[in-house]
Amino acid sequence: MQYIKCGSETFNFEIKPIGKICNLCKRETPVVTLTTQALKLCKSCFLRIQERRVYEGVKRYKMFDFKDRVGIFLSGGKDSSTLAFLLKRLYPTLNIQGIYLNLGIRYYSDQAQKTVENLCEKLNIPLFVYNLPKEEGFSIDEFILTDFKSKICSVCGTIKRYLFSKLAKNLGLTVIATGHHLDDLLSTYLTLFFQGDFESIKRLAPVSPPIFPGQAKKIKPLFSLPEREILYLALLEELPLESCSCPHGEITPSKKVKKWLEDWASENKTFKNQVYSVFLNKFIPLLSSKKESEAFFSCLKCGEYTSSPNQICGRCRRISLLERIPDRKLEFTREEWFSLKDKTNWVIFDVREKEDYLQEHLEGAKWVSPNLVEDEKALFKTFKPYKDKNLLFYCYTGRLSYLFVLKLRKLSFKAYNLLNSSY
Ligand code: SF4
Ligand code: ZN
Repeated sequence: MQYIKCGSETFNFEIKPIGKICNLCKRETPVVTLTTQALKLCKSCFLRIQERRVYEGVKRYKMFDFKDRVGIFLSGGKDSSTLAFLLKRLYPTLNIQGIYLNLGIRYYSDQAQKTVENLCEKLNIPLFVYNLPKEEGFSIDEFILTDFKSKICSVCGTIKRYLFSKLAKNLGLTVIATGHHLDDLLSTYLTLFFQGDFESIKRLAPVSPPIFPGQAKKIKPLFSLPEREILYLALLEELPLESCSCPHGEITPSKKVKKWLEDWASENKTFKNQVYSVFLNKFIPLLSSKKESEAFFSCLKCGEYTSSPNQICGRCRRISLLERIPDRKLEFTREEWFSLKDKTNWVIFDVREKEDYLQEHLEGAKWVSPNLVEDEKALFKTFKPYKDKNLLFYCYTGRLSYLFVLKLRKLSFKAYNLLNSSY
């Protein structure tokens, strides 16, 4: 089986007996090997070890107490889902609130919302859904029309952080728990270190105190768990999971660092824990002893706190770019397309399999190979002759053709998708 994460990181796994007897309980059949020790464990011993790691981390860093209201922003992925599962299991009476941000990412956000709804039902956690297009009139996809077209994940991060703070306040949350794990933290730490961004490194500690008044504190209860073990836990517990098939997923610098870490760790099983221990016990205290008082202001547009000296927060600066674009259309319904009177400057592309194109296709449509979407250079070369045209793409479900549209928009083509009404 495969689990695919954002940016095409792929995990291959198989859950099957890996020996005769569990090294801990000496009773059950082992199904997982711990990453750091050569221990073959059964499902319940493996779960107990992960529970103990989380429990000890929460206690050591005093992450919350029972007066707190703890919010978990659920994405449908393995990390936030496992976090919700473990917190609910370890602290059944803790006041936990699940939150899902529906960012209006076509062919992704609605599906992930269903997965999160199933998870919350299974874990008996209340869920609050915030629908960005409905509440604020724009979606993350629309930033493909701005100068941020090649940095969608960065815009998405800014908008999400803004909503984390705002919703935490509205929902009365005192703590926000995130699913950052050992591999996430190490790769981000090394990436920031190479960039010299020591201020951001401080935020990688297991607990980040509020920056602005009234903000919730942020905690990372999974900070000592390796990513692969989180995935195994989610699978063994049969948590509903959404493979991250966000069409904007990209390979970021920290994902490349993660790959190096994997290579180093294959030679020395405790390598990651050693690096993280130096980071946590030596480096973070060194940085934290240098207290810099950061000035903060109320954003002149939205009223939320910001440290930006021009008093407009990052989220509002990005949205004002979007507001300057009058036509934000990226898709046509079939009705809209067929009722469009003037199609003289349009070229239609069918990105289905060739046999299906040959059997029947929209009038005047040209065929392009579905595989072309993987190759940016070939994509640019193929569509260069149509630079001044409006391009319409369609496939079976609308998903692949939408990917063509997003990639071509990044290359500054005027591309649109034909929505498949049966989808
Ligand atoms: Fe947002 Fe990028 Fe993740 Fe998609 S892949 S949800 S755009 S951060
Ligand atoms: Zn603002």
